[in-house]
Amino acid sequence: MTDSGYVRYVQKGPATLPEMTGDEVGAMLQKTDVILLPVGATENHGAHLPLGTDSMEAREICRRAAVKLTNDTCPVVIGPVIPFGTSSFHMGFPGTITLSSATLINLLKEVCLSLHKSGFRKFALIHGHDGSLPSMMVAAQDFVDATQGTAAMVLNWLTPLSKVYHTIQVSKKGEGHGGEGETSRILVTHPELAHPERGTPHHLDPKIMAKIQGPEHIKTGGGIFFATRSYKEHTPYGHIGDPTLAKAETGEKGYQVIVDWVTTVIKREYFNIF
Ligand SMILES: [Zn+2]
Repeated sequence: MTDSGYVRYVQKGPATLPEMTGDEVGAMLQKTDVILLPVGATENHGAHLPLGTDSMEAREICRRAAVKLTNDTCPVVIGPVIPFGTSSFHMGFPGTITLSSATLINLLKEVCLSLHKSGFRKFALIHGHDGSLPSMMVAAQDFVDATQGTAAMVLNWLTPLSKVYHTIQVSKKGEGHGGEGETSRILVTHPELAHPERGTPHHLDPKIMAKIQGPEHIKTGGGIFFATRSYKEHTPYGHIGDPTLAKAETGEKGYQVIVDWVTTVIKREYFNIF
């Protein structure tokens, strides 16, 4: 940080593709054909978090995974952070931008096809916003169908994280979008942009919460996909949970769980390391 008043926050860690030169990407392609693609969003997260929260989380997961993988002699490139997702159910709040599923599928597929032309062959699409998971899966399939000798997978880290959330978080109630966990993760990377004290605790009826991210929901490890209704019907603030409980150390623990799982899967699937 500087006192200039113009610097809102400082990005740390290894470069994503747009921060590299073409030659630098070419040099990395001599060492690896694996690329991680962070898929973020621009959507309301309550009065206490920035609209780009999901993009920041996706980038951080990829950044940490890349550092860990490279240290374990599994080099990877971090692709551009995709700043938009399917955020239709947050459109009741100002600043939210949504793409239709068809647009996001095409966008992701064409990004992957471009990177394929450069020489990347193994793709891991990593979300920051679980609402984009259906489109990410279709895009990965379409990309593999359109190319030879490629592999693409979509990593939903919400599933492993959900299994241990109760051991990490303080809250005993249902924490969700913009709640304790997510606010804690932004406190780790962008404390200048997180304002937990502005958040109002807001929990849902457990039956309704179960359809947003309960154990039966496919995105948290179950077998049912519940399409999401407008968040405005559930919460006047846009978030679900108690952001005032957020702490950077909770976010740090969450990132460790997520990144351990992401790196284990990538090593196994793309580097044959078990
Ligand atoms: Zn989010």
